[in-house]
Amino acid sequence: MMLSLVHWENGRGAGRGEKNIAYIKVGSGIGAGLILNKQIYGGTTGAAGEIGHLTIDENGPLCNCGNHGCLEAFAGGDAIAKQGQALVKSGKRTILSGLPHEKITAHDVAEAARRGDLHAQEILRRSGTFIGIAIAGLINLFNPSIVVIGGGVAQVGDIITVPIRQAVRERAMRASEQSVRIVTGMLGRRSLLIGATIQAINVAIHIAAENKNSTSKETSMEINNIVEIHQS
Ligand SMILES: [Zn+2]
Repeated sequence: MMLSLVHWENGRGAGRGEKNIAYIKVGSGIGAGLILNKQIYGGTTGAAGEIGHLTIDENGPLCNCGNHGCLEAFAGGDAIAKQGQALVKSGKRTILSGLPHEKITAHDVAEAARRGDLHAQEILRRSGTFIGIAIAGLINLFNPSIVVIGGGVAQVGDIITVPIRQAVRERAMRASEQSVRIVTGMLGRRSLLIGATIQAINVAIHIAAENKNSTSKETSMEINNIVEIHQS
């Protein structure tokens, strides 16, 4: 599905002037929404953007998709939660220690990191490095002007963006690396709107591709909403 975003450039909303945008959502999994040359890029069947299943290490942990060592098996919310659970089980002193280990979520780890817990921060830093490695690849392929990091984990800000930027600096080709900004969806209205928009686009694309929980009418309604976001 290819949609022309006329309002992307002409409206007063987010993303004005940005032609090539990548939105990376770090939720329980990791996905990407792409706008290339002002058009949503969904690929042949609408399945583009599955950055979470980029192989980081073929011998790595088992992913939900059945393969081993995908990005999201290292760095997604579920992986962060598992590492938080292992941390508590290990008996190390951490803010998380008071919680029943089997119930620890990525949100708990992020909250502990924000409150200064060094072990929780280390989990998120590692996550950020893996995400940054994948983003460096995406930057090399698509040369976007902006990469927006969204999803719950992005709320920890620098704790995750510093290692992401570092990995990108180390691995992306210079010509692309120097012209890209990496921001979180939390840094203000502008980037938040870009994130929300691309996420909504991405969801719409995936619904259309899977064509099971939605009709094409619902999908086009969703896309109309996106355009309205731009106009407001
Ligand atoms: Zn996978």
